[in-house]
Amino acid sequence: MVAMKMQINGKAAGSCGGECFDVRNPATCELLEQVPRGTEEDVALAVEAALSAFEGWASISPQQRGMVFYRAAGLVRQRKEELAALLTQEQGKPLAEARNELEGFSHVLEYYCGLAGSLRGDFIPVTGNGYSFTVKKPLGVCAAIIPWNMPALIMGWKIAPALISGNTFVLKPASSTPLTNLTLASILNEAGLPAGVLNVVTGSGEIAGESLVRSPDVRKISFTGESGTGKRISELAASGMKRVTLELGGSDPMIVCDDANLESAVAGAIRGRFYNCGQTCTAVKRLYVFESVAREFIRKLEEGVKRLKVGNGLDKDTDMGPLNNHSQFEYIKELVAGIEEKGEGRIIAGGKAPSFKGMGKGYFFEPTLVSDVPGDSRLLKEEVFGPLLPIVTVRNLDEAIEEANRSIYGLGASIWTKDLDRIRMGCEQLNAGIIWVNQHLKVAPEVPFGGVKESGFGRENGPDILSEYLETRTIMLKT
Ligand code: NAD
Repeated sequence: MVAMKMQINGKAAGSCGGECFDVRNPATCELLEQVPRGTEEDVALAVEAALSAFEGWASISPQQRGMVFYRAAGLVRQRKEELAALLTQEQGKPLAEARNELEGFSHVLEYYCGLAGSLRGDFIPVTGNGYSFTVKKPLGVCAAIIPWNMPALIMGWKIAPALISGNTFVLKPASSTPLTNLTLASILNEAGLPAGVLNVVTGSGEIAGESLVRSPDVRKISFTGESGTGKRISELAASGMKRVTLELGGSDPMIVCDDANLESAVAGAIRGRFYNCGQTCTAVKRLYVFESVAREFIRKLEEGVKRLKVGNGLDKDTDMGPLNNHSQFEYIKELVAGIEEKGEGRIIAGGKAPSFKGMGKGYFFEPTLVSDVPGDSRLLKEEVFGPLLPIVTVRNLDEAIEEANRSIYGLGASIWTKDLDRIRMGCEQLNAGIIWVNQHLKVAPEVPFGGVKESGFGRENGPDILSEYLETRTIMLKT
């Protein structure tokens, strides 16, 4: 086995002569690679490389920076099949989803390449004081710590706005999915990114992650992960007066009204919940359906869910792969065990780990539906990051919105109806960062994305994100 190395200053760094950790395929538990367990010293080297590269990168035009993205997006497309297979093997998702994610990564790079020409300050006349203007300056070294559910797409969301604005970067991938991130970083270097502009340090959250947040030379941290980890990072960053963006957990509600197109709502719920084996921050995690259509909706949903094929993501006909890691697998098993005995609902589909002949001991779990869930159930309070959908029936939209808002999270929410008054009410009263109407899950680099309450603060994507990576310098000119 050839161990994959970290990338510091444009070169492979660290070796498993030092300490390393295993990256395993969650469908088989087979060892894929060994990757260095980055230390505080490795983080310091990566930050130093980013600091040395800063002046050069900041001094070239945004358009030149954008051209590197443009070339890298093309290279990722050329190598999509190879990269998709790598992503599927380390993350577990079906190949079609992996291809989709890599296409998303290229699209993010191209979007920011397009924004390169829009970086600008303002010209402001000041009465009695001549003219003033603002110029935008990059912050310096920025960093991101990312999770394992969408490693390629989230890497794109983090690095692209930072780099196009002239910052340099250190990325810490999740321990179970560093391979695609390391490969994408080397593709960016091949596309012309100068050495040191993007560095990747692998390792644990406690050592590599915290060292990065503590580093005095890192001016901004963008974090995606659990709300608890986000709070810890926020505390550490506050003492260094660093900017922070926190994209945290979610427990998105989906509301199905009695006038909704039930076929498309069923398809939306299945995709919204079981895409990526339910491990998506904006997955449908709570479903509220009007009681007058509940029976028909649940019957159609059950039929659709029972048709989903669970298997190794590399197999062509797989609809849903395994959970990504052992602790996720144990969490879902523990959550499902005794649901009925504890009065937390009725399992109407799935509910156990299936067994696959000859497939080793992967982290597979059946797509699971739980109906008759009481309002105070754990299934509605926690962020269920896996293939389990709790279903609650409601009398009307007032009740649905009240229940939907009864969560510590506020990432996304969707309402399914043809009625304009209901749409308006949902858009105004649902407390979430993104509201979908007659769809759920879709995110795009063109629109701002992020949550309220314990889902975090700050936004990613959209043109305004650039201000998160730039300082405004005011110049007051008197002639
Ligand atoms: P996690 O918080 O356990 O880990 C995320 C990253 O943080 C990993 O790289 C990990 O190594 C690192 N980390 C852990 N402890 C750390 C510490 N003390 N200091 C610094 N870094 C540390 O989350 P996860 O289990 O990898 O991901 C799943 C979570 O991510 C879910 O809650 C999901 O909703 C959330 N998520 C949110 C979004 C969003 O945009 N809001 C997107 C995807 C995932």
